Amino acid sequence: KKLGVALVGLGNYATRQLAPALQQTEHCQLVGIVTGTPSKAETWKKQYNIPEQNVYNYDNFDQIRNNPDIDIVYVVLPNSMHAEFSIRAAKAGKHVICEKPMALNVKECEQMIAACQTAKVQLGVGYRLYYDPYHLEIRRLGTQKVHGSVKTVESSLGFSMADPKVWRLNKALGGGGAIMDLGVYCIQGARRTVGELPNAVTAQGFVHDEKVFKDIYEMVMFQMEFPGGAVSNSTTTYSSYVDRLHVTSGYQWYGLQPSYNATGAQGETFEGKLNYQTPEFQQIKQMDAFAQDVLNQRAPEASGMEGMIDLKIIEAIVKAAQTGKRVQLDWKGWKL
Ligand code: NAD
Repeated sequence: KKLGVALVGLGNYATRQLAPALQQTEHCQLVGIVTGTPSKAETWKKQYNIPEQNVYNYDNFDQIRNNPDIDIVYVVLPNSMHAEFSIRAAKAGKHVICEKPMALNVKECEQMIAACQTAKVQLGVGYRLYYDPYHLEIRRLGTQKVHGSVKTVESSLGFSMADPKVWRLNKALGGGGAIMDLGVYCIQGARRTVGELPNAVTAQGFVHDEKVFKDIYEMVMFQMEFPGGAVSNSTTTYSSYVDRLHVTSGYQWYGLQPSYNATGAQGETFEGKLNYQTPEFQQIKQMDAFAQDVLNQRAPEASGMEGMIDLKIIEAIVKAAQTGKRVQLDWKGWKL
């Protein structure tokens, strides 16, 4: 039997990527939706053959506990709503995948992890690149020191986003602009290639258009120092397109460009191009991996702890940008 998935929030990502990907998965399938917009419910019911009893809104969502068709709830809402809906899903006894960033801060992540532990359900974060062959190869080259230990990483992501009506630019809903939205990718590109957690960060925040970026940074550049000596440098921005991961070990280099975009990575090393067959949607492997983890009762690789690590680093980056000071990170007591 394929596990049943309900998507919560039928915006761009759910519509363009997750729902089509869930038509091609082997171990799970789209069977339910949660939406505040009745007209969307009608369209989705027809398009994906979703029965009326598997359609919920944000108010009656908790009744999902009585629905045996739905095993997994996937939260694809604005960032400020991730914690609330993940916790409600766990309390309803459903396994949870939450989109990135996992929440607004470490405290919310802790509450989500605790709720899932109490309910004995799995918690995953929608980190599709944990299952992408290009990213896995860069991680292998780095962590196995195939060309020696990593010395520098450049890891950046940005695009143009200047519409103040969009939730991503609203501090309460998005949590803080580009660093919240795109920071997780840049952080992971570096930390997962080095195979370590950073012990200090420095950061610089910039605003060019003050009419649009009133209380959030338009761009944040940041550096992470790793215990083994590697240093990474990143740009997250809402003012221009950048999407790249570049790694050096002495004279050897390797990287991806584009790197993080859902349309797929391309890669090259100092020895030549990387070439992998990839499925139409990265989310197919991501969702099948999660479904298998649920079936085998094990924590997913893209776990709640992974999501919380990234929020802890983002909190330190924002503090460093605001104070202009180097911020140290202490990982004592963190179960990795
Ligand atoms: P979106 O704006 O297109 O969709 C958001 C959905 O939430 C809409 O259906 C909207 O109606 C609903 N919603 C409910 N309450 C809302 C409120 N108060 N304000 C605004 N919208 C509200 O956004 P999206 O691009 O689909 O992003 C959704 C989530 O998915 C975000 O957390 C984002 O970071 C994540 N995302 C992840 C990836 C990825 O590659 N993993 C890509 C895109 C987005």
